[in-house]
Amino acid sequence: MNADTKTNLLGLTTQQMETFFDSIGEKRFRTAQVMKWIHHYGVDNFDDMTNLSKPLRAKLKEIAEVRGPEIVYQDFSDDGTRKWVLKVDGGSCIETVLIPMDEKRRTLCVSSQVGCSLDCSFCSTGKQGFQRNLTAAEIIGQVWVAQRSFGPRTDTAKRPVTNVVMMGMGEPLMNFEPVMASMRLMLDDMGYGLSKRRVTLSTSGVVPQIEKMIGQIDVALAISLHAPNDELRSELVPINQKYPIQQLLDVCQRYLDTLGDNRSITIEYTLIAGVNDQPQHAAQLAKVLRQLDCKINLIPFNPFPNSDYQRPSRNAIMRFQSAMVDAGYLVTVRSTRGDDIDAACGQLVGQVMDRTRRSAKYIDAVQIDAGSDVG
Ligand code: SAH
Ligand code: SF4
Repeated sequence: MNADTKTNLLGLTTQQMETFFDSIGEKRFRTAQVMKWIHHYGVDNFDDMTNLSKPLRAKLKEIAEVRGPEIVYQDFSDDGTRKWVLKVDGGSCIETVLIPMDEKRRTLCVSSQVGCSLDCSFCSTGKQGFQRNLTAAEIIGQVWVAQRSFGPRTDTAKRPVTNVVMMGMGEPLMNFEPVMASMRLMLDDMGYGLSKRRVTLSTSGVVPQIEKMIGQIDVALAISLHAPNDELRSELVPINQKYPIQQLLDVCQRYLDTLGDNRSITIEYTLIAGVNDQPQHAAQLAKVLRQLDCKINLIPFNPFPNSDYQRPSRNAIMRFQSAMVDAGYLVTVRSTRGDDIDAACGQLVGQVMDRTRRSAKYIDAVQIDAGSDVG
């Protein structure tokens, strides 16, 4: 059997791993053993899985593998930020960034696709077009690489990665099953054991797929709204032509209703100078969001080569924030620390010609909220 036909155990959920062991005539308790080796201890070599019998190790070597993305470049900076450029099958690269938020929290920004088909007008990933979906192994592989960089987890209470945001390259809900499988692994104690409030899926609003999440998974949801009316939103986020704002807000509320108390949606709003940052936009946004339990993250636009848009002035950003606060919303603005991260990311990107660096920048605001929740 060659590498192509071997089962990559890295991307299997607990249930899938049980099915795998059933299929090879092995006992189900092997699932917990192998999953802990892979996800807690970062082991990718069956010979190191010392509580498995030698014949079982030999059998697994024949038919299976634990194969993470290849690390092309990594950078650990003094402030605790860690970045990786990872090569996935087919030669494309994705970037994963781990950002320390405070003493206790480290947030990992994870990609779900190479490129993106949704073509939002202000997004550099969208401008690259869509290349392909990542597999579950490639998605969870980003968490695996990040955690592994801290060495084996001997104390399961101490997690190197405390929060994950699906805010890297790609639209997670256009790659539904692999993203769900990966998030299940993030939440699973045999995987990464993260609290449901510390795993955030960000989407531009693929309404039927949000509907599909209901009852299937319980994670935090962030919606990339970016405009308070359909005319403007359809210009910035073309998928709005298919699923307009009201449909989106309705499905968000239905999702929330199934999650129980004290949960809310994060509304992401990228502020673009002269486009969606005016007082009338804030007033309209305040009105349209009245119906939803939500908090708002304002993301100053991050310019990239050949983009026509500009980042608003500091005053314009503060004016917009104040208007929303006055209207009674909890509003965060991406902190300036994101700029340092971006600068560092920019260098990385220059070296490897990868354009995912913007991903690092939205994390701050969203995860400040997620971290303040009781997990
Ligand atoms: N596809 C998903 C997740 C990845 S993008 C989504 O759209 O939600 C993560 C966030 O960054 C989204 O809110 C997205 O709209 C925003 N974003 C993309 N490009 C940006 C840019 N150049 N400046 C500021 N925010 C941007
Ligand atoms: Fe895709 Fe999100 Fe970029 Fe839109 S903002 S093009 S959905 S990655």
